[in-house]
Amino acid sequence: MIMEEIYEITDAPKIIVAIDGYSSSGKSTMARELAKRVGYIYIDSGAMYRAVTLYAMRNGMINPDGSVNVEALIPKLSDIYVDFEPVAHEDGVQHTLLNGEDVEKEIRSLEVSNHVSPIAVIPEVRERMVAIQQEFGREKGIVMDGRDIGTTVFPDAELKVFVVAGLHERARRRWRELTQKGLDIRFEEVYENVAERDRIDTTREVSPLTKAEDAYELDNGAITHEEQMEWLMRLFQQTIEKLENEG
Ligand code: C5P
Repeated sequence: MIMEEIYEITDAPKIIVAIDGYSSSGKSTMARELAKRVGYIYIDSGAMYRAVTLYAMRNGMINPDGSVNVEALIPKLSDIYVDFEPVAHEDGVQHTLLNGEDVEKEIRSLEVSNHVSPIAVIPEVRERMVAIQQEFGREKGIVMDGRDIGTTVFPDAELKVFVVAGLHERARRRWRELTQKGLDIRFEEVYENVAERDRIDTTREVSPLTKAEDAYELDNGAITHEEQMEWLMRLFQQTIEKLENEG
């Protein structure tokens, strides 16, 4: 019997898996695949900040100098709802919905990437997104990836992973991903975007990107995807077994 069937049919305790890490560290791919293998819900929290960014761009809330018109955005936050389609598309991706509209393609653009970190710095934005994320995790059985999942969103998550890889390697992966999607973009531009997001994400005042004390660190710069998944599946199984033995 394959692993995903085992977890779906047994009454193994359901847990929260928090996967945090730097931009383009490959955490989303890992998180999505783990969720699929064990029959859990997958939530890409970065997509939620991207959707708010798209909302701000569409509604003229980005100033000509690239800064955010915070006064205009904050009163509108309660009108912004970010959700995900319940079923993944053929490409295996669960599309992001902004007030019910499928915005999956738009939120992946470099323009959104360039504005997202300044939006994610705003405490009121974080408060709203964290509340929605916590609601998603109320019944456990969830894998969520982001920057502050193990530290702020789910500090009591049963399994926490922190993914790192060198900046050059991450920018290379992101550039390859974008060019494979048909975007004509220079490597240097992608490198600068990833470096700038690292800088803002690690230095912001509210919930900066940092490894939770009880997180397992994975440097995936030099290992294969399969090796990463084996490592993660082993940790997942150990966490479940530990809970079963305790209960
Ligand atoms: O994961 P992704 O790179 O798509 O996230 C986009 C941006 O959203 C990050 O660069 C970061 O600024 C922000 N983010 C965040 N907290 C999270 C997830 C993402 O601040 N939990």
